[in-house]
Amino acid sequence: MVYLFPNEAMSPGVKPMDYESITYNRYRWNRMLLNGFWSILVLTIVLESLYSTVSELPRTQFIIEYMVRPSALLLGLLLMAELGLRLYNGRYQDYIVILTSTLIAFTIVYIHNTINYLILALFLPIMVSIFYFQIKKLLFALSNTLASLYIMYGTNYFAANDISIVGLITITVMFCTFTLIAWGILSRGKELHSHLKSNFERNQELLVKTIWMDKLAKTDALTGLYNHMTFHEYFEKLIDQHERYGLALQLAIIDIDNFKRVNDTYGHRAGDAILKSVSELLRSKSRVNDFIARYGGEEFAVLFTDQSSKESLTVAEQIREALSKLPQQSLGGEPITVSIGFGEYSTAEGKEHFFNRVDTALYQAKNSGRNRTVLSAEPPHETEQSQLA
Ligand code: GH3
Ligand code: MG
Ligand code: MG
Repeated sequence: MVYLFPNEAMSPGVKPMDYESITYNRYRWNRMLLNGFWSILVLTIVLESLYSTVSELPRTQFIIEYMVRPSALLLGLLLMAELGLRLYNGRYQDYIVILTSTLIAFTIVYIHNTINYLILALFLPIMVSIFYFQIKKLLFALSNTLASLYIMYGTNYFAANDISIVGLITITVMFCTFTLIAWGILSRGKELHSHLKSNFERNQELLVKTIWMDKLAKTDALTGLYNHMTFHEYFEKLIDQHERYGLALQLAIIDIDNFKRVNDTYGHRAGDAILKSVSELLRSKSRVNDFIARYGGEEFAVLFTDQSSKESLTVAEQIREALSKLPQQSLGGEPITVSIGFGEYSTAEGKEHFFNRVDTALYQAKNSGRNRTVLSAEPPHETEQSQLA
């Protein structure tokens, strides 16, 4: 059966935002980078196969020197990185990934020392470090790159490439310049991130405020039950559900007996305590499908749905009986009593007619001595009547 439960009917259609989407997910990014490194390994094998067709070296020598050796080295590096990522959690993972990228670049450049332009591969750690959006990781990558460069220079790698000390300085300046640009990109990104974050926090605050205000507008401050206005909103919706889907609907109007006398004798504060105590009892006796409201001063309304009139009437009677036996502290242990008007909604009856009918039953309960529940008679069916006439 399709109908609205109180909470659904009252809460605004707002969804909490997901901050995860704008925060950094370390594991996911590092996994992606490592996958990227694995594809570098595949790519080098593919490229070497292409080179093998144009190389003048004997085939076996080429395969050993330029295919087996680098691939084995890269494979070893990647396996170590995979292990490192599993062993270390937290920010060390990021450094492991940057270091791996340095060693990959170093291996590729060093093994192909006859190919000048491969020196560009040393940019790899700097590029990788940008992913982390942290200056210290960018600087770590730059120092890795420069260390690789100077180790190569120190081990005479450049002798084959004829790169002078001026060339070395130029390459150093190039790497530093690129790092500075990357630094700028990071700063811009950080600016955007903090903007996004403060927007997100403002939205969250607003959401909490909206929910809070919504609750304030819909409930009664003293008892926390739904207020008069909300009762009518919900009452209408439930009648609509009855008319469309045949939802069983009963109403009980509960009025505290001689409440004025309680106030006059024990004071207004004692009266308030009674109202709270009655609301608590109503709450404890209700099920999820019931809707309880403080209708007016010392008057409460309960809408029962999705159960038979007999079952709901039993609950109403239980409420009345329980209250009549519940010692009230603020009245020196004396209980209070309530009178209840009860009725079941009849198809096409209309909200006003139904409410008045149950209110009349309450009036009868009062007039016939209080502390009792009066069941309202089913109304004569007007359409049937007019048809008969
Ligand atoms: P009956 O048995 O016929 O219902 O008599 P009653 O005295 O309960 O009814 P009446 O309508 O004469 O009085 C209701 C009283 O409820 C009057 C009003 O001061 C009191 N009342 C209404 N709202 C509050 C409230 O929020 N706190 C307190 N303490 N009293 C309230
Ligand atoms: Mg009363
Ligand atoms: Mg009253």
